[in-house]
Amino acid sequence: MLELPEVEVLRKELEKEVAGKRIKDVEVRSPGVVRPFHRNRPDFTKALEGRKVEAVRRRGRMLFLDLGEGATWIIDPGEGGSLHRETAAEELAEDTHLAVRFTIGGALHLSEAAEEPTIRTGIVPTEGAEEAAGIGPDAIDLLDDNPTWMEFGRFLAAANKPLKLLLVDQQIVAGLGPVYSDEILWEAGLRHDHPSAQLSTQEIRRLYRATQEVIVAAMKAAGSSLDDAEAESMIDDDGEVAEHLRVYGRDGLPCPRCRRPIKRTRLRKGVYTYHCEQCMI
Ligand SMILES: [Zn+2]
Repeated sequence: MLELPEVEVLRKELEKEVAGKRIKDVEVRSPGVVRPFHRNRPDFTKALEGRKVEAVRRRGRMLFLDLGEGATWIIDPGEGGSLHRETAAEELAEDTHLAVRFTIGGALHLSEAAEEPTIRTGIVPTEGAEEAAGIGPDAIDLLDDNPTWMEFGRFLAAANKPLKLLLVDQQIVAGLGPVYSDEILWEAGLRHDHPSAQLSTQEIRRLYRATQEVIVAAMKAAGSSLDDAEAESMIDDDGEVAEHLRVYGRDGLPCPRCRRPIKRTRLRKGVYTYHCEQCMI
């Protein structure tokens, strides 16, 4: 699953590659990807063809491509979606659900290797695009909003939730998911169930610094390009965990700080945490 750092890298690539380009034609293979934004495929195609991409924005893990005249194209990468650039003549791969071709050549393919893709895309009014994409009006984006540590502290106190559940809640913190929530907590040395309203000043500062360090390091690691067609996977087919990760996917391996084995704990249905019992308090 792409999280904020990878989507930000993608946004920068898209800005370079597609901003200023006009869309020639659109091919939707899986009708499900344009719902709930559109009733059917022609409705989406008609809204997108002939439009020009003016700017590429990001909020949380959602992409917003502004088309001018009050319209915005939302791309939600879902659980395992990826975007890649192709030549206009390139045939659609098996797992490609949407292809968008540009008038001056080149195309963008949206893919996901899944029986039922979770990618969602649609054209919505620019005003209210974030709500349409399911981003809570009060959710903080730690990169975009760039809060001070004191603002972050007030935010944590007001949210008053166990830290891990807070970090993955898209209505509270937009863009973080299973991977970087664990990485941030490990970096900060704070337990997943530590209540966010009960952090000392020092702990708030540690958590604040950890969010910044982990996001920046992940963006560096993600520094891939749209030509690299593979979805960013944190654990590859051989079970090798991406090098920049310290705890995620590393259960049983020694904690890089205290050498105790890393544990994987289920917090609730579908939510797991990789953590160290020794050095996270
Ligand atoms: Zn440890």
